[in-house]
Amino acid sequence: MRPQSLTPLFAHVTSLPGIGPRLGKLVEKLAGPLVVDLLWHLPFAVIDRRNAPKVSGARAGDVATLTVTVDEHLVPRGPRQPYRVWCSDETGRLCLTYFNGREDYLKTLLPVGETRVVSGKIEIYQGEVQMTHPDHAVPLEQRDSILRVEPVYGLTAGLTQRPVQKAMASAVDRAPDLTEWQDATYLAKQRWASWRQALAEAHAPADEADLSPMHPARARLAFDELLASQLAIALVRHHNRILAGHATEGDGRFRRAALSSLPFDLTASQKAAIEEIAADMGKPERMVRLLQGDVGSGKTLVALLAMLICVEAGAQAALMAPTELLARQHHATIAPLAAAAGVRLALLTGRDGQRQKKQTLQGLSDGSIQLVVGTHALVQEEVEFADLALAVVDEQHRFGVHQRMALSSKGHAVDLLVMTATPIPRTLMLAAYGDLDVSKLTEKPAGRQPIDTRTIPLERIGEVVQGIGRQIAAGARVYWVCPLIEESEEIDLANVEERFRLLGERFPGKVGLLHGRLKGAEREATMAAFADGRLSILVATTVIEVGVDVPAATVMVIEHAERFGLAQLHQLRGRVGRGSAKSTCLLLYAQPLGETAKARLAIMRETEDGFRIAEEDLRLRGAGEILGTRQSGLPDMRLADLSAHGELLQAARDDARLVIERDPDLQSERGKALRALLYLFRRDDAVRTLRAG
Ligand code: ADP
Ligand code: MG
Repeated sequence: MRPQSLTPLFAHVTSLPGIGPRLGKLVEKLAGPLVVDLLWHLPFAVIDRRNAPKVSGARAGDVATLTVTVDEHLVPRGPRQPYRVWCSDETGRLCLTYFNGREDYLKTLLPVGETRVVSGKIEIYQGEVQMTHPDHAVPLEQRDSILRVEPVYGLTAGLTQRPVQKAMASAVDRAPDLTEWQDATYLAKQRWASWRQALAEAHAPADEADLSPMHPARARLAFDELLASQLAIALVRHHNRILAGHATEGDGRFRRAALSSLPFDLTASQKAAIEEIAADMGKPERMVRLLQGDVGSGKTLVALLAMLICVEAGAQAALMAPTELLARQHHATIAPLAAAAGVRLALLTGRDGQRQKKQTLQGLSDGSIQLVVGTHALVQEEVEFADLALAVVDEQHRFGVHQRMALSSKGHAVDLLVMTATPIPRTLMLAAYGDLDVSKLTEKPAGRQPIDTRTIPLERIGEVVQGIGRQIAAGARVYWVCPLIEESEEIDLANVEERFRLLGERFPGKVGLLHGRLKGAEREATMAAFADGRLSILVATTVIEVGVDVPAATVMVIEHAERFGLAQLHQLRGRVGRGSAKSTCLLLYAQPLGETAKARLAIMRETEDGFRIAEEDLRLRGAGEILGTRQSGLPDMRLADLSAHGELLQAARDDARLVIERDPDLQSERGKALRALLYLFRRDDAVRTLRAG
């Protein structure tokens, strides 16, 4: 149960004064549905209204708060004219200007002969001191209602500062005093205020410096968020560890059989990775391991070997891929090896026919099917395993934590292997997974040649097409990628289709088209035709970004390369250079190039090292943006900024670890306070783990 003390914060935002149903919708869009969501929406700027000169001393461009007498209303005669209110003090005249001003409203707000305090930005217009749409205009006795320093909040269309500021002030007022959950010594060392006070301070910045992520109030709130997240991860993991029981060990026979059917040897890092994985699986605790390897480094093979360990131990293993295309691809890669080992493998996607599906489900539940590859169809309720021992999740950043757990929950204490081609910087990794064991594939399989990467302005597309003509005449296979911008899928599809048409006219019967809107069967047929060489050119959107594996493809053309992110360009380029033949990547760009795009393309020319590219990407984009992407699978941080709070993250990790060691059930006084923290940051899932355990 959520502690009673938090109840006011978990009310809907419409419970705040001034927020009715209409504004409520906008506030919900801005920050979230609940009062607590609003609290995490910190101001991004301040307006200092302490500057209170006389009219003659007001300077253009400054924000000023002036005390003036209202002299005269000049009601506009034409529709284009603004409404003007002339005011003055003993030093000069001030004109308040309103566009589309309503006379009755303004006459009540600014009655002639009265004194008013007005605050806003000073302009000089035709030699007169002017203020257009003052932010405030109040009688002298209400002067204090104008904050001396005003917080400025990010808004959404339709919202203005005033109601948000007002709602925020009462949200902060509602925040209860909560029992301190932070370690007393750490708190003292940081000289941080209590949660409530820090919250109030963070919403009442006195100047620009108070907006810094390093300001104590903001740092404290960020730490709270990080601690909640690290503690939640640690609790779930601890719980899973004590649940453990499975020690999966094999005798190596299926692995040997599969490997002996391969025409190549494992790379040294593939060998090291599989050893690490086998050691983990052989322990009674649950494995949670990340297999990180650049595109083309051979992760799938490592995954298969891990899966075969399960089969040797008499259990089952499942591999889940984020897309249908990828699932089929993995299945195709694994099938001959599974066959060589004499192991039964099935494919399960959302598109299987009824009969087929029934057979697969039957085989999985009676254990006659030992390995399965599939999409998220694998986590459907009707899927049951006789004895699932290992879940492999590919390209996990496309799955939510939830789906990952759903697959693991199909068995008892299932080992988890997560494969990713995105080299995740250490900080982000810690934020997403807490402490996680990592196996890295650091080398590419032997015999791979560097990819020749060139940047070419789009104007020279004619030459590129000619060059491609020569290449395909010599038997080359070419990917041609067109960008996809989510906002206008229609236009993008039109672009891909147009390119497909133009290339098709030039190379009749040789060109295929692949994008996300096509039916699965259609896509599959196209992929197959490209893989076996009936098609020479594959015009595609970024659907080919992950996993697509056609070793014979040697040319990658990326149209409007300037529109792609660095990580994406790298992933796309990784589709070639997978065989022993020399490959080329042509990055076609529209001029003029912006600074960032220029830097990205230069890095692409310079290196193929995925780790270096990931670092440059982080530098160019900032952690915020990487984290901001909804698909990242990383927790959504509202207060912490990982590019600024890396040290706090480490501290939160250490603290969470200590808590779990000393008080794993959160029973102590501090433990109880920490439960409130988990609720505050909506980590109820972790608290539930406590009760279940
Ligand atoms: P990743 O998933 O890491 O991008 P894949 O597992 O798809 O890479 O492997 C890419 C290609 O390399 C596949 O065609 C695979 O068969 C091949 N491959 C894997 N391991 C080796 C190896 N040790 N030597 C040569 N080729 C390999
Ligand atoms: Mg792969």
